Amino acid sequence: QAKRNGRDCTVDYNSSMTLAADEVILLNNDLHHAIKENELVVFYQPIVDIQTGIIVGAEALVRWSHPTKGLIFPDSFLPLAEKNGLASAVDKWVFEHVVGDILRWKEELKPIGDLLFSVNFSGKKFQEPNLQNELRLALGGHTELAKQIIIEITEREMVLGYEGNIETIEALRACGYRIAIDDFGVGHSSFASLQKIPADIIKLDHSFIDNIENSSRDLNIVRSIKSLVDQLNLEFIIEGIETEQQAIKLKHIGGTLAQGYLYAKPVPAIELYNLVANQKLKYKTS
Ligand code: C2E
Ligand code: MG
Ligand code: MG
Ligand code: MG
Repeated sequence: QAKRNGRDCTVDYNSSMTLAADEVILLNNDLHHAIKENELVVFYQPIVDIQTGIIVGAEALVRWSHPTKGLIFPDSFLPLAEKNGLASAVDKWVFEHVVGDILRWKEELKPIGDLLFSVNFSGKKFQEPNLQNELRLALGGHTELAKQIIIEITEREMVLGYEGNIETIEALRACGYRIAIDDFGVGHSSFASLQKIPADIIKLDHSFIDNIENSSRDLNIVRSIKSLVDQLNLEFIIEGIETEQQAIKLKHIGGTLAQGYLYAKPVPAIELYNLVANQKLKYKTS
């Protein structure tokens, strides 16, 4: 299990903050600067096989390392970015950094370089006419990397622009990317999404598992969604697992992937590397 507070960590990344509304407004001017001056940071949260706990990939989650306010969570500045037309720039920045990390790990022959990496795109990003070209440039000739990259878009945003989004998904999948529907189940028309959207992965919103320890009804709902997802030959990732009891219940519903604080919080790249490296050792020796 990942430690919640690494004693030996110099960065206290658990102390990211959520800002009050008035503070958010003050940040407005800084955000443009932040992207240009590389004040953004990519954190990674491991994605594990729920049966074995083995890390199979990681989701990239952006933070803003503000010079005076410290680490700021995306929920505090992405809505602002969205309003100012900067959301696409943030997503581009994150994508490029993830590609950079993967390539570096591959060059150093680190096994972590072969895992899956997931990035989040805003609805706006998804609708950019130049998207494919931008991603191709970011891969810098390493087109084969697309196979290792999952692009997440929330169900809510997906539904907002169905037709164009479906075209984009098909184009991206043709390049090798996998597409995940994020926060599945709490957007609108989840069944219609399943029917219409040619995605590869369903990421179940954490709210479905919050109460499974106490509610067999809730557990049955998760089980049913999983069986639906299985029937459609999609991958399933359950988000937000925090307790061992939840994990035990979920293991009974069969093989699936999972993310959550129980396994690991989002961590800086070097820390992700350590988590993967140590696990390798553990599984080799046991
Ligand atoms: P998301 O994509 O659904 O990511 C999962 C969020 O849940 C992350 O919050 C993660 O830290 C948190 N989480 C993971 N495990 C647990 C758990 O066990 N318990 C609880 N309570 N929370 C958990 P975070 O990093 O604050 O990100 C929030 C949202 O911001 C993301 O939700 C995603 O929608 C958005 N986001 C993050 N990075 C990016 C990005 O680069 N681009 C875009 N467009 N959106 C991003
Ligand atoms: Mg996500
Ligand atoms: Mg999510
Ligand atoms: Mg979310």
